Amino acid sequence: MEKKNIDWENLGFGYYKTDKRYVSNFKDGKWDSGCITEDSMVTISECAGVIHYCQTCFEGMKAYTTQDGHVVVFRPDLNAQRMYDSAVRLEIPPFPVERFIDAVEQVVKANLEFVPPYGTGAALYLRPVMFATGPVMGVKPAQEYQFRIFASPVGPYFKKGGASSLVLKVSDFDRSAPHGTGHIKAGLNYAMSLHPIVKAHDEGFNENMYLDPQTRTKVEETGGANFFFVTADNTVVTPKSPSILPSITRRSLMSLAENLGYKVEEREVYLSELSEFVECGLCGTAAVISPVGKVNDHGKEILFKNSQNGMGPVSKKLYDTLTGIQFGRIEGPEGWVRQII
Ligand SMILES: *Cc1c(COP(=O)(O)O)cnc(C)c1O
Repeated sequence: MEKKNIDWENLGFGYYKTDKRYVSNFKDGKWDSGCITEDSMVTISECAGVIHYCQTCFEGMKAYTTQDGHVVVFRPDLNAQRMYDSAVRLEIPPFPVERFIDAVEQVVKANLEFVPPYGTGAALYLRPVMFATGPVMGVKPAQEYQFRIFASPVGPYFKKGGASSLVLKVSDFDRSAPHGTGHIKAGLNYAMSLHPIVKAHDEGFNENMYLDPQTRTKVEETGGANFFFVTADNTVVTPKSPSILPSITRRSLMSLAENLGYKVEEREVYLSELSEFVECGLCGTAAVISPVGKVNDHGKEILFKNSQNGMGPVSKKLYDTLTGIQFGRIEGPEGWVRQII
């Protein structure tokens, strides 16, 4: 199969319009049969629920070309279930898990020419999204919705020379509320994170470190990635909280860490104990792991000595293992890699 003539290595992370997408609409109490379409535009009522009350959620995942030339997606069942849970919390009729996985396969198969070749470090990013298309004036769930998955090739997150370490600030804003929506992938969580991230960038920081909204003493996550930390004796620790978004990358890394023989802990992590860790990383689909070198807590700097200049040894080991599984160089746990072709 011919690939599109794209400079894969130099693609960034942005919207690159591909040929085909999957669309299913919810009307009269049910999801229609859904199909692949070439229409990249969405036309909805000016009174659509998504526009006024932000009734929308999304997912993010990638399709990879493996070393032996297959095209695979990583744990799509977890994205399907997470989107199901997001929809339920937002009173959006959930899209069945099995149908979600089938739609992912259809979109990847319909856009094979856009799946970056093995060795470029690039991948085909998939963006499932659900939103209220039906009109609402009073505050209530809409009657009509759309489920859509489109694809966009994205470049390697780290350009040649590898990952440089991020500098974070402890934010005075919260990304979630106690008993709120921090644990689901809702558009509304991102709308209110834009102001804090723009401010953090203006001040010269890469990301915000958000604290637990109830006591503001414990570490939660950044705007779009979970944390893990490594202790001096190689224990891998990740924060536990009901308002953290359950990252599939983080859950996968923690389970690999355990298989690799590291001690792992998912527990509350206090801001006051950060100085005891020697490595810090952010995890998410986009970068897998981004090393964190420093956290600035209102002028007080906390340094992670082994992740000052790129990933520390434990992060690197976890990164190589997970990306090895995704690109088919290492056999992963049963069911993690779903072969499309
Ligand atoms: C999507 C997301 C993540 C990362 O999740 P992955 O499944 O690993 O991509 C982390 N935090 C937030 C707030 C997110 O929205």
